[in-house]
Amino acid sequence: MPIKTSERLGRVRSSQTQEVTLAAQRLRSQGVTVIDLGAGEPDFQTPAHIGLAGIQAIQDGFTKYTANTGILELKAAVGQRYLVDYDVRYGVDETMICAGGKQALFNVAMALFDPGDEVITHAPVWPTIPEQIKLAGAEPVFVRTYADEQFQVVAERILDSITPRTRAIVLNSPSNPTGALMAEKELDIIVQETEKSGIWLVLDLCYEQLLHDDSVSHKLPSVVQKARDRAVLIGSASKSYAMTGWRCGWLLGPQELVTACSTIQSHATSNVSSITQRAVLAALRGPGSCVEEMRIEYRDRRDRFVQLLSEEPGILVRPPAGAFYLFPDISAFLGTDQMRTSVDFAKRLLEDSYVAVTPGEAFDAPGYVRISYAASMEELTIAAKRICEFARSCLSTA
Ligand code: PMP
Repeated sequence: MPIKTSERLGRVRSSQTQEVTLAAQRLRSQGVTVIDLGAGEPDFQTPAHIGLAGIQAIQDGFTKYTANTGILELKAAVGQRYLVDYDVRYGVDETMICAGGKQALFNVAMALFDPGDEVITHAPVWPTIPEQIKLAGAEPVFVRTYADEQFQVVAERILDSITPRTRAIVLNSPSNPTGALMAEKELDIIVQETEKSGIWLVLDLCYEQLLHDDSVSHKLPSVVQKARDRAVLIGSASKSYAMTGWRCGWLLGPQELVTACSTIQSHATSNVSSITQRAVLAALRGPGSCVEEMRIEYRDRRDRFVQLLSEEPGILVRPPAGAFYLFPDISAFLGTDQMRTSVDFAKRLLEDSYVAVTPGEAFDAPGYVRISYAASMEELTIAAKRICEFARSCLSTA
């Protein structure tokens, strides 16, 4: 007999992005060399000076509980970074350290959303966003973004989705999975048009340091200052500093909200690992060159990978503006008995050609696949060749 789980759990789906990783692991355990472009994490090692700061924390005996919202120095360092990058000021009482951007978003969902509330976000969507909204008992409302508009969020469509039940708008930029950036002017429209509504604006900026085009301004935290009393900024060390396993993110927002989030976190996980906090402090205070080196490398990979995949005309791929994912339209290969959906495409690509990608269904975007380019240039070159060969074989057997 299956165990009876909570009603709450009945509302959510497990993470589909992990299913590909598990299937790839199974093949690997059978001795197959799989190129895994399914996972959403940097392939780089955490920079050495950051790792050493973690080791030093252990050697110093800095291994006890810390304040629930994080150590003061780290909160101040996060605030300092936002001051330098965006010219916005957040004090230590308006800052909280969480176990990844994911926990920061979770705290906010639990602190703000109730059953009966609607929360608007945009799709294709990183699946955790709607599932957290549902865990809080609220209802996600999706506003679509489109490939032929570079998956840009259009303010007017967000505003059209507002109802008297709208509690918040969650915006993710750069976007996972599309790599699209939210335009400052679109956010400005949303800020202005929701001025009297009290609707919360939650900005998931976890990929904020991974922008490919130097000439594009992406100062969303500055834009949202006019709505500072109802805005939350969420950031993370995971992607910028290649620190996914360390688990550290943060949220910046009104003090009352931070206090509410702190209450939730205090009864869940308490503080982020003390060792991690020291390491992230070194990351934020240390030289920015390591971030820049990774950013340049991602951009080179993006350009090369897009060029190689474009050799197969059925794969409709555009260079993304940020993060490290391609999100091609592969619908040209679907519709046969053997391959109806992007899930079928991803499964067959893995089984036949040993390349793992994530099907678009995971992001509410059937007909697409997400391909991470957080892998070496050598792996990407081999993967592109295999993907193109696989695509051609699909067309010839269709
Ligand atoms: N937001 C987005 C859009 C993400 O893709 C991720 C990680 N995949 C996160 C937040 C959270 O990452 P972390 O918890 O590692 O900071």
